[in-house]
Amino acid sequence: MATKEEKERLAKELQDTARPLFSAIGLDEKVIESALKNIKFTQALVDVIKEAGVTEGCPKAKGNLLYTTASKHPANALVHRPMLLEAILAEKVKTTTQLDGAFEYLKKVGGEPTDAAAFEEAAGVGVVVTPEQISAAVADAIASKKEQLLEDRYHFNTNLLLAPVTKALKWADGAAVRAELSSQVEALLGPKTEADLAPPEKKKKPKAEKPKPAAKEEQAAAAAAAAAPEEGAAGTADDPYAFMPKPEDNNQVHTTVNFSDGSVMRIANSPAVLAQHMQRTGGKVVTRFPPEPNGYLHIGHAKAMFVDFGMAVQYGGVCYLRYDDTNPEAEKQEYIDHIAEIVSWMGWSPWKVTYASQYFAQLHAYAVQLIKAGKAFVCHQSKAEIEESREQGLPSPWRERSIEENLRLFEDMRRGLYKEGEATLRMKMDHKNENPNMWDSVAYRIKYVQHPMAGDEWCIYPSYDFTHCLCDAIEDITHSLCTLEFESRRASYYWLLDVLDTYKPVVWEYSRLNITNTVLSKRKLNRLVTEDHVHGWDDPRLLTLAGLRRRGVAPASINAFCREIGITRNANVIPYHKLEHHVRLHLDVNSPRTLAVLRPLKVVLTNVPEQHSSTVQGATLPGRPESQAYDLPFSRVVYIEASDFRLQDSKDYYGLAPGKSAMLRYAYPITVTGYSTAADGSISEVAAEADLSFVAGGGKKPPKGVLNWVAQPAPGQDPERAEVRLYDVLFKSEAPDALGDAWLEDLNPDSLQVVQGAMVNPHLAATAKAFDRFQFERLGYFSVDPDSKPGQLVFNRTVTLKDSFKK
Ligand code: ATP
Ligand code: MG
Repeated sequence: MATKEEKERLAKELQDTARPLFSAIGLDEKVIESALKNIKFTQALVDVIKEAGVTEGCPKAKGNLLYTTASKHPANALVHRPMLLEAILAEKVKTTTQLDGAFEYLKKVGGEPTDAAAFEEAAGVGVVVTPEQISAAVADAIASKKEQLLEDRYHFNTNLLLAPVTKALKWADGAAVRAELSSQVEALLGPKTEADLAPPEKKKKPKAEKPKPAAKEEQAAAAAAAAAPEEGAAGTADDPYAFMPKPEDNNQVHTTVNFSDGSVMRIANSPAVLAQHMQRTGGKVVTRFPPEPNGYLHIGHAKAMFVDFGMAVQYGGVCYLRYDDTNPEAEKQEYIDHIAEIVSWMGWSPWKVTYASQYFAQLHAYAVQLIKAGKAFVCHQSKAEIEESREQGLPSPWRERSIEENLRLFEDMRRGLYKEGEATLRMKMDHKNENPNMWDSVAYRIKYVQHPMAGDEWCIYPSYDFTHCLCDAIEDITHSLCTLEFESRRASYYWLLDVLDTYKPVVWEYSRLNITNTVLSKRKLNRLVTEDHVHGWDDPRLLTLAGLRRRGVAPASINAFCREIGITRNANVIPYHKLEHHVRLHLDVNSPRTLAVLRPLKVVLTNVPEQHSSTVQGATLPGRPESQAYDLPFSRVVYIEASDFRLQDSKDYYGLAPGKSAMLRYAYPITVTGYSTAADGSISEVAAEADLSFVAGGGKKPPKGVLNWVAQPAPGQDPERAEVRLYDVLFKSEAPDALGDAWLEDLNPDSLQVVQGAMVNPHLAATAKAFDRFQFERLGYFSVDPDSKPGQLVFNRTVTLKDSFKK
């Protein structure tokens, strides 16, 4: 038995021998470093290099084939490896596709003698695929899909073109086919435009017609098309979700996944699986809203909730609130609590509140099942090495471990025998796929971090890719609705469910909501908050739901806005005024009116006796039957808006000027008789006379201009003062996200303006509570900020009025 020291010395020796050999066959530095860490693989590759007789080096292309041979050569047929290596060096086997054919054959033969002709056939030896043939096959494939390709342009799924070519020319070199494909596609479409680079646009497809009486196959195809949600289809005003398939129709093929070996996986539930699912759910629509508790929710999440909860409500189904809590570093109890509270504030009632973490044991059992199916392996590449070999289309050097070894090492991972970063569990998907999400994604990683829910029970945590689809399957989600960036992850989502043979939800993607002059990603919101660019997650300038609530926006306005923009796949930035429109609509109907003055200018009514004190009546909802009267104190000193007095009168101006009259709302007309100025030349006080004989509707024509005002509640007593916070857009440009790293420089320095010393009517001071909403006539809609203290009200301006009611 070798001692530990001796083993280490031998390993070191092997590495020293191997490094120059690996370099000689053209492997990249990072690939070499990663390979050297795997002693077994290093030994295999050294053997292969020696066996091939290329210790002096060989071209890189051959080197890559040797690497794959070391990694994938069937263990039961090692006696034939020299023969295969000879074929590689003689350039009989030139591509990994051929190599795969060879492995398949050798695995079957095992230790028995090979048959030269059968081997050559299995590995496609001597089959010459000319560039002309590739070019012609690619042209054929493009021609057959031309219409769709011209319509979708660079959003077209090129796997659909690749598959027929690899089928027609089995032995063609994959890289050559891909190169030809992109060059022909580009020749047809021209360079990429702005729109090509943006996420896919909504496509208007006609509603699927009823199948005409036709051949059975065609009918089946039409039924499948009808069952699949139409890409980008919009529902109706009454039912925005009308285009989604019914739960009972989820046994149609709705997604296909192409593999690099030409095979295709068609995603559909078998009738039996669907029947069991229907049994469990009673045929109900089941959706989920899956926030990650790593920040506060924002208006984009309001759209997601409208989609998830809204669809369940529409069909009498149920919706889970599921915390996607697999990243313990970023997640906090504060966020978990806030999400629960704000979901309910938005008016949604989760059927059940669940956590991805509550399924950790079940997910772990699935991982073991996956290893037993030969579909996962423990890998020791670092993050950078994984990226590097993925980019090069190379398998991990640890990919071909035995099931027993993988089970043992995965258990070692779970028991904490590795340090962070020393091992991951990776899914054995298709490292040569067109779709990077299929390149053997990580399923589990090691993190020695306390989990907010699971505590320190686990040191291995499942990745999003592993967790999300399985939680959907566990919860029998009928419609897994998510944003478009997940579209390319459909393949991996279904790959895992298919391998584990679970029920498969329908997945449908919609566009992320973006709004002008703001940012919504939680990462950016987090920076704004932690770097004090705003005052907390609920700063009213943010479009977080907490910020909107504090600003005075009603949840009903947010949901009405979501309904209006719809659940389409349109990727655009929605103008902020569309949201404001719904905010005003709601506040107009629901918020009581009152009078206030933001920047007061003192007006002394010289014909009102000094000791005069009376009240006039205001109306909370003028002109509406539900309106109520409230008292406005009136006395000799009143305050008007400073901007409502000018020295220079003009035709289109309805405010006050020397000699000019205006109406004090709900009270009397006044006429300016004089004014005084301060040392700096500004107007300090105005003198005016009130027409106390004026009676509304009494026949006397009032002046055109109507002013907001607040009077001293009693002679010599200052009116109630308040702080008012006025808001402007947080970012100067419409799309700060487009500025890359410079987005913070785009912050609007004037987004918050604090007005001290505004005046409000005394009844507000007596009754207003935090979050109450009012219209200050002529000034806008305002809501009471929770910073308010008795005698020190603070208001946020939610939104301005569209038009002041009279100039
Ligand atoms: P962010 O980038 O803002 O952190 P996220 O996608 O990481 O967003 P999650 O908490 O994981 O946020 O999202 C929960 C759900 O809300 C997901 O289904 C996600 O797709 C959806 N969602 C997130 N942002 C938006 C948005 N801007 N518009 C619509 N849906 C969104
Ligand atoms: Mg997230």
